[in-house]
Amino acid sequence: MPGITLKNVKKSYGAYEAIHHLDLEVADGEFLCLLGPSGCGKTTTLRMIAGLENLSSGELAVGPRVVDCPERATFIAPEKRGMGLVFQSYALWPHLTIEQNVEFGLKLRKVAKADRQKRTAEVMEALGIGKYGSRYPSQLSGGQQQRVALARMLAVNPDVLLLDEPLSNLDARLRLEMRAELKRIHDQFSTTIVFVTHDQWEAMTLADTIAVMNEGTLQQLGKPDDIYERPANRFVAEFVGSPPINILEFDQPGELVQGAKRFLALRHPEISGIGSVGIRPEAISLVSGKDGLAEGDFGAPAKVAAILPTGGSWILELETGDQTIFMNTHVAPSVHEGDRMWFRVPARALNVFDLKGDRIFA
Ligand code: ATP
Repeated sequence: MPGITLKNVKKSYGAYEAIHHLDLEVADGEFLCLLGPSGCGKTTTLRMIAGLENLSSGELAVGPRVVDCPERATFIAPEKRGMGLVFQSYALWPHLTIEQNVEFGLKLRKVAKADRQKRTAEVMEALGIGKYGSRYPSQLSGGQQQRVALARMLAVNPDVLLLDEPLSNLDARLRLEMRAELKRIHDQFSTTIVFVTHDQWEAMTLADTIAVMNEGTLQQLGKPDDIYERPANRFVAEFVGSPPINILEFDQPGELVQGAKRFLALRHPEISGIGSVGIRPEAISLVSGKDGLAEGDFGAPAKVAAILPTGGSWILELETGDQTIFMNTHVAPSVHEGDRMWFRVPARALNVFDLKGDRIFA
């Protein structure tokens, strides 16, 4: 299965530059998620890979083959790129049954009837639409239609799968099931997959690698754990994570900020120009007093202002003098609202950003 390489890719619509400068490598057999807020350029990137949009400049290669390079007047048509596509707005053939829809691509490729039927039955079964074979698309729910669209694409075993929010119409349970199914398909066929989503959990659960985008620029390319634990900048830190990361702005007054400044000055005297520090709610725990801090912990007095159960986990609102921070725990809290405690964070869980918002150390 081929990988995909984008080199210095730009894309403009008239005077508007949607993608500024994109270097991205999707390894052979990799499951890559393009993650970012609405309008950041995910779909545009996917459409360029598919060949539904041409690059304004730069180079796009699939395996060793350059498929789009305006400077060299190269453009390979979408149908010659060996890719399967499923978009959010999937178009099923309304006059064909579900079975005929799924079989369609195999027919086009002139696969023998018996093989065609076997493969069609296989993927329909895998996606849980086996019993709808003789229905028409209008007789299925949106979620069922979405699965038909996926089945139709999977039936032809494409080298590269391009998926744009393909699970967005499914309810929560089906979404989970389909994620697991997609992962199995990926493991089974080692297909290179590029998956567009604005849902961080979807990206975290599916991807080998996540490419976080914002405003037409790649912010970070990394494994899900890295994106979460070592965000490259403030944008990534704040986009990923729920409840969101706590940010201590170093240009703000307040005891907690002053404490963090003293702590970092002592621990890392070599660092200057700190703009902010981010602390994930999961990295925080409570101890009864200063004595509970271990060597290398950052901590401060904190009053438990509120305990919010979220079904299997709890969010605690902590008042630390003049700043409120949130912690998240999966263990039923033994503290009560109004209790005065200390919070602690291991030093390695402090995300330190410079004045521009870039991460200072790994
Ligand atoms: P969403 O999650 O909302 O689909 P996205 O990250 O996929 O967003 P894109 O659809 O790639 O974003 O759009 C990136 C930017 O390019 C947006 O500002 C969008 O308005 C603009 N854009 C996309 N297609 C066109 C077009 N055909 N003409 C002009 N501008 C466009």
